[in-house]
Amino acid sequence: MNDNIFQHFFDAKKNAANHFVETELGEHFTYDGIFNLSGQIANVLIAEGLKPDDRVAAQVEKSVAALALYLAVVRCGAIFLPLNTAYTDTEMDYFLGDAEPRILICDPARAANLSNGIYKTLTLSANNSGSLIDSTKLQPSSFATVHRNMDDLAAILYTSGTTGKSKGAMLSHGNLLSNAKSLVKIWRFTADDVLIHALPTYHTHGLFVATNTIMLAGASMLYLPKFDADLIMKLIPRATTLMGVPTFYTRLLSHPHLNREHVANMRVFISGSAPLLAETHKEWSDKTGHAILERYGMTETNMNSSNPYDGERVAGSVGFPLPDVDIRIDSEAGGIGVIEIKGPNVFKGYWRMPEKTAAEFRDGYFISGDLGRFDDRGYLHIVGRSKDLVITGGFNVYPIEIENEIDGIDGVLESAVIGLPHRDFGEGVTAVVVRKPHSAISEAEIKSQLDVRLAKFKQPKAIIFVTELPRNAMGKVQKNVLRKTYDTYYAAAV
Ligand code: AMP
Repeated sequence: MNDNIFQHFFDAKKNAANHFVETELGEHFTYDGIFNLSGQIANVLIAEGLKPDDRVAAQVEKSVAALALYLAVVRCGAIFLPLNTAYTDTEMDYFLGDAEPRILICDPARAANLSNGIYKTLTLSANNSGSLIDSTKLQPSSFATVHRNMDDLAAILYTSGTTGKSKGAMLSHGNLLSNAKSLVKIWRFTADDVLIHALPTYHTHGLFVATNTIMLAGASMLYLPKFDADLIMKLIPRATTLMGVPTFYTRLLSHPHLNREHVANMRVFISGSAPLLAETHKEWSDKTGHAILERYGMTETNMNSSNPYDGERVAGSVGFPLPDVDIRIDSEAGGIGVIEIKGPNVFKGYWRMPEKTAAEFRDGYFISGDLGRFDDRGYLHIVGRSKDLVITGGFNVYPIEIENEIDGIDGVLESAVIGLPHRDFGEGVTAVVVRKPHSAISEAEIKSQLDVRLAKFKQPKAIIFVTELPRNAMGKVQKNVLRKTYDTYYAAAV
């Protein structure tokens, strides 16, 4: 049996003529259409000398051709390496040097800078032109999908690299397949589903969680180049599901037409990649009648846990471990500790970093670096990243606890709590706060409200006001950026 994940997508589609993708321009593509294009691209890649286990790096805009390219690479038994289009030439040098791809696919405008004599460069633009597309026209659509086993690699996804160099997470056909199967099952996807897809496709969320799940269900997608609140609102009556990062939901909440009637056709709203505020969860269910289904995953492990489809979806929780995933918490007394994960979803290690890989596993469990706890009912709660933990005067402070208190104060929109070097305390608890529009709340007012709610050692030594928190494309607050910006804050203050 061929374990190539493409073979499973191919077998899953009940009817080849089924509708698969509609773009923002109203173009329609069937499964047949996109799978045939992937066959043509696969033939181009093989003609360029691609062999199984070779890497194909792709720095391309989200498009239907880019989706077909992902499928083509996997069909060739090669390894897909998607790269954020925001990466500069210098950053690309690192990734290409590290991954040593056989072929690079990039935008025609980048080709001159990124080409070298080592790998072959082909181009693909956002509007579907370039040498890759030109070459497909000469190729047949039939292609015999290369035989793969569950442990063979399908993709390498570089982590966002918030500490040190970005690492390439090696994901096998079995990793991707087992996760997509679980998600179809627990989220009840069927061929009748229509997903609004507005996520980037160089990241696990948009590429695997969204598209693999849809393809395994034989369902269809409204495929948008990026988040656009007005367009999503327009499409919601024709869709059944949305997968988003929390900022999708906070932005949609301020749309004047969001209400129960408008979302009557929707089956489920799913959120992940960054914490969804309990307040957003509540506002969303007040306005739409839908409890957002929050799940937890990461590049290295695919999805780990999810709130239930049936049953209570608890705000501020990431739910239960997926059926075949084992999650344990490394803590002494059943309290907060580092989340460790084992299962068919867990990656094969970091590309060419055996020591780093070994250091991040313990008894077969991947040490996620996320801090969490299980509540009495078995729901998992994430309380931050272990590297974000603040140790002040020997006490552990979990930023999320302080952030929740601050976010609950009138006049505060949101906050991020970090530890900054402090002469007396080692680290000083510091809150970076965004005020609500028109609010003039002061440092003293926030501090006096926290004084009655938090033990002294947890209270911020300082509050820094900003107009916006730095976030990456997946909506994650970049605490490393904040720490760097304010590194000498207390030194300067003394
Ligand atoms: P990435 O590898 O870019 O997908 O980032 C994975 C990290 O995102 C995880 O290790 C968590 O820190 C965070 N994350 C993902 N989903 C959630 C969630 N639902 N709540 C809180 N943090 C999350």
